[in-house]
Amino acid sequence: EKQQLDRYKKCATQTLDGTKMQVYANITSENDVTALLENGGEGVGLFRTEFLYMAGESLPTEELQYKVYSNIAKRLEGRPLIIRTLDAGGDKNIGSLGIEKEENPFLGYRAIRYCLDHPELFKTQISAILRAGAGGNTSFMVPMIATIDEVLRTRALAEEVKAELEKKGIPHAGAIHIGMMVETPAAAFDADRFAREVDFFSIGTNDLTQYLFAADRMNQRVTGLNSYFQPTLLRAIKHICECGKRNGIEVDICGQAGEIPALIPLWVAMGVDNLSVSIPAIPKVRKIICETRSSDAAEIMKKALLFDSAQELEEFLKQQFSHKE
Ligand code: PEP
Ligand code: MG
Repeated sequence: EKQQLDRYKKCATQTLDGTKMQVYANITSENDVTALLENGGEGVGLFRTEFLYMAGESLPTEELQYKVYSNIAKRLEGRPLIIRTLDAGGDKNIGSLGIEKEENPFLGYRAIRYCLDHPELFKTQISAILRAGAGGNTSFMVPMIATIDEVLRTRALAEEVKAELEKKGIPHAGAIHIGMMVETPAAAFDADRFAREVDFFSIGTNDLTQYLFAADRMNQRVTGLNSYFQPTLLRAIKHICECGKRNGIEVDICGQAGEIPALIPLWVAMGVDNLSVSIPAIPKVRKIICETRSSDAAEIMKKALLFDSAQELEEFLKQQFSHKE
């Protein structure tokens, strides 16, 4: 089986009828790039930058961040690199930020909320990202977006940073390419409006699931609700994909659900552009896409979206899948 999988590290990722997709990796540090390339990753769909902020007692400087981002971009040799801006709070506790303890950290002062409140910190990161974009195919995306205003303020800050770099004559990306993670119910529900304000969507199914069902992703007792086979979640993702398509932007999935084999035909049918998955999953995900026919996937999706029970839907999808294996 391993030899068979090795084939998929190199060939193009496309369905039997020729729909192209790219399989990216989720990474947390520069060190992951070696394994990414060995496993046939076609880029980075989610660079979780929190580790940079967790590493020391003090905040990472622009120079340090620039070095890390541009090294990764270089090693990717033109493959896309999507850097997620700081996603502090919730399950990601970062001591150096000095965020006070909260009753409900998952619903609290986190991610984009913290960053917009600390424009200097946010601009430092954006500046490093734009500079890394001078030599590579980089873009950035913002976590936990819940309002259009957060998007507009982020874009305004990025424009400010770009103007400052220009004034100083520092090389940077020619165009600002801003994506948002779709991981709050507000963003999912109003995806049509958000899609007009950003350059791409990346669906964070880990958080989207927990917030959609109001079920803590860390709490073992509610894992049933947190299932990626919840029909309500799948209908929400389909809606997000349709809104993205309608507005001509790319839609990726970067949460855990993206790499679940039995769900991949649904992502194909929904027109998801790219999947960003954990490094070990890359060859398998590429193989499944290559063995999928769009018309079959559409048929499976039509039936899947009629279910009401996560358990029954999981059984159904796994059955569809077992015919192939
Ligand atoms: C997600 O929420 O689905 C996601 C990809 O981001 P994280 O797991 O880092 O919150
Ligand atoms: Mg998330």
